[in-house]
Amino acid sequence: MSNCAIVGINWGDEGKGRMVDLLTENYDVVVRYQGGGNAGHTVINEYGKFALHLLPSGVFRKGVVNVLGNGVALDAENLLQEISTVQEKGVSISPENLKISDRASLLLPWHRDLDELEELRLADKKYGSTKQGIAPFYSDKYQKKTVLAGELRDRKALEEHLAQILEWKNLTLTRVYDAEAVSMNELMDWVDSYGEKIVPYLCDAGKVLRDAQKSGKNILFEAQLGALRDLDFGIYPYTTSSNAIAAYAPVGSGFPGAKLDEVVGVVKAYSTCVGEGPFTCEWFGEEAEQLREAGGEYGAKTGRPRRVGPLDLVATSYGVQVQAATAIALTKLDVLSYMDRIPVCTHYIVDGEQTDEFPFPSKLEGAEPVIEYLPGWCCDVTKARTWEDLPKQARDFVEYVEARIACPIRYVSVGPERDSIVLR
Ligand code: GDP
Repeated sequence: MSNCAIVGINWGDEGKGRMVDLLTENYDVVVRYQGGGNAGHTVINEYGKFALHLLPSGVFRKGVVNVLGNGVALDAENLLQEISTVQEKGVSISPENLKISDRASLLLPWHRDLDELEELRLADKKYGSTKQGIAPFYSDKYQKKTVLAGELRDRKALEEHLAQILEWKNLTLTRVYDAEAVSMNELMDWVDSYGEKIVPYLCDAGKVLRDAQKSGKNILFEAQLGALRDLDFGIYPYTTSSNAIAAYAPVGSGFPGAKLDEVVGVVKAYSTCVGEGPFTCEWFGEEAEQLREAGGEYGAKTGRPRRVGPLDLVATSYGVQVQAATAIALTKLDVLSYMDRIPVCTHYIVDGEQTDEFPFPSKLEGAEPVIEYLPGWCCDVTKARTWEDLPKQARDFVEYVEARIACPIRYVSVGPERDSIVLR
């Protein structure tokens, strides 16, 4: 028996989906423990190419049980859409291999509307939300103003609970944002169209996970986004509204007593960032365009061009610490093949001082990157499958990063496909 979390070390989009897809081979259960439909985990395998938003990336493996824990923003509308998209490609999804915690809170129709309304109100000060309702959802969850998925089992009680919440929510919609009120009929139509359809998947996720552990099964915890977007440890307020870090995995999955034997942190060989907020190593102009094109850096959920720049070792070292990573998967090494020298950010200059400590969020705005260059390899590495297959300059780069972030790089990914990987 062993438990492992796969987490992002940076801003997200590091390639967690491809790593979970690869590693599920060794795991019996895959759990998503936070976040909602705002993720976009890209998985390429024998069924095709998928951008998974809510479904755990283990759905493609026969015999793997996939769990959505209590910590997720349960967006039934998005989830059902995703289930049918994946089923259309021949993947079997049923209550046998997909289990949803009855303690997960429901993302309700107004959460998406409120996200949009608030970003409009913020105008040029917006946070860069994916407008999937995540921030309004988690605010309501912590205010105890949403409903648990398990409440869908008792329609009468659900209707009463929703009526109370609706009265309160309509005050916000109409008086704060001057938007349309939602009617009870609209809400119950939503329950019929979406809520009811997820009832067959509901379960006591804690029991599923405890039983799995008792019978010696291996559990994989799948994070959404990266350490720098974690609500408590990320670049606040340019964070997501939940805890993406590995330490939250036991809580958000429904198994608070779970021990993580391993935390695999996923790091991209360069930096990317979607949305607003300080991004110290950001490149602009032609340099940025070239890297963005080489890496296909457009959001899996939104299609937005991602901001790009060189690998940021200051932010990455911080991410490794916050995640308590025990091993690293370095992805997209192949993308750097076009560069004759590989840039890395080794330090920041903050208030005139050079530092390798990741600064307090408000200090980041003025931080300047210190860039060093390593020799490039200038050849195709996508066929490499062993450490020796990689050119010396690529191996030197990996070893240099490893030493700087003080964590073993156990996997080097050289392409998006399942088998485009070098194990060390
Ligand atoms: P996630 O949210 O962390 O799973 O990451 P995304 O799916 O948003 O972004 C990662 C992107 O990189 C996807 O398009 C993957 O198919 C792709 N990808 C992952 N690993 C590699 C790699 O080693 N090389 C290349 N070229 N693409 C990769």
